[in-house]
Amino acid sequence: MNILVINCGSSSLKYQLIDSESEKALAKGLCERIGIDGSAITHQPAGGEKVTMETDMPDHTVAVKLVIEKLTDKEAGVIGSLDEIDAVGHRIVHGGEKFASSVIITEEVLKQVEDCNDLAPLHNPANLVGINSCKEVMPNVPMVGVFDTAFHQTMPKKAYMYGLPYEYYEKHKVRRYGFHGTSHDFVSKRAAEILGKDRKELRIIVCHLGNGASVSAVKYGESIDTSMGLTPLEGLIMGTRSGDIDPAIITFIAEKEKITAEEVLNICNKKSGVLGLSGGLSSDFRDLGQAAEEGNEKAKDTLEAYAYRVGKYIGAYAAAMNGVDVIVFTAGIGENNAQVREMIGQYIGFLGTNIDKEKNKLRGEEVILSDGNSKVATMVIPTNEELAIARETVRLIK
Ligand code: AMP
Repeated sequence: MNILVINCGSSSLKYQLIDSESEKALAKGLCERIGIDGSAITHQPAGGEKVTMETDMPDHTVAVKLVIEKLTDKEAGVIGSLDEIDAVGHRIVHGGEKFASSVIITEEVLKQVEDCNDLAPLHNPANLVGINSCKEVMPNVPMVGVFDTAFHQTMPKKAYMYGLPYEYYEKHKVRRYGFHGTSHDFVSKRAAEILGKDRKELRIIVCHLGNGASVSAVKYGESIDTSMGLTPLEGLIMGTRSGDIDPAIITFIAEKEKITAEEVLNICNKKSGVLGLSGGLSSDFRDLGQAAEEGNEKAKDTLEAYAYRVGKYIGAYAAAMNGVDVIVFTAGIGENNAQVREMIGQYIGFLGTNIDKEKNKLRGEEVILSDGNSKVATMVIPTNEELAIARETVRLIK
């Protein structure tokens, strides 16, 4: 089956057409600046050349039409017609407490997703726009919603409740939800497969270290804790997000800088993390690594703080699961950045990880980093959220 996977942002739309039998992407691409001047689509068929075309995209429906045009194009296309798309899988960021797994999208589901808009005002409305545009262009194609939060719905109450008045949970559903669930699920499953074990027998810590970053504790097949919370701002120090801070900082800075709490929160989301900590140097770990090598002290301190926070979370989740059998690194930094992995390794050696320095130099491939004497299998597994969404879509429409 051919599954079109859609990840829709407020002004962007990422897509992949995946053949579910071979599990390979036939084509992928990105529509950018939808509804803004200078919109463009970049399309790449598997093994073919990446082509960017600037064209007017006033809304997401036009973008979806353009994606179909590209997929069926005589030269750059990979299918003959729209009929060859068997289903569409949509990434949806927030499913609140309503969605503990993926669902076939119906009118009722759309209403329930809309009810979660308050919890992810930047993401969910955009996801809904994407779904409605696809429905308009492909009214007879089944659609599936795959939620970033769903995998973490197994967290026990002690892990998801904040130490706040209970009424805020009852009235406004203020609790920890966690994100990147599709990746944590995919990678922990794959770890068990590689080790030839059942995931139900393993305690796995997954470190999804990308621009956004989170750690999860997957105990015997279920997420029992994760570092992101009500929103994707909590937890690790990220590319531009602060991660855990004392909440009193918000009003403290607002008062000192004569800005609103809303503006401070925006700074916590967009100008903090390693970008902020490095004095504005970069949110990209390649730049930070190079600057640190050239002796930039702020870059060195930033990388130290980053690795220290990840190390602390791994220690905490080993305690949460009363032990750990597997630690996995994934996403841009987790898969590619040997230096950061080595720095994190300094904090977790006591668990018995025994990371082999030579194996740790490998990049972007599945590898067991620990040597034969390790108590904890430490691994790198590239994540593939699109494939995970395609698999979920096939599972549901079957
Ligand atoms: P993601 O959000 O998963 O795409 O991850 C983005 C992050 O991965 C950025 O901070 C990149 O600097 C980092 N990254 C990607 N490739 C490399 C690499 N080869 N070496 C170091 N960091 C990398």
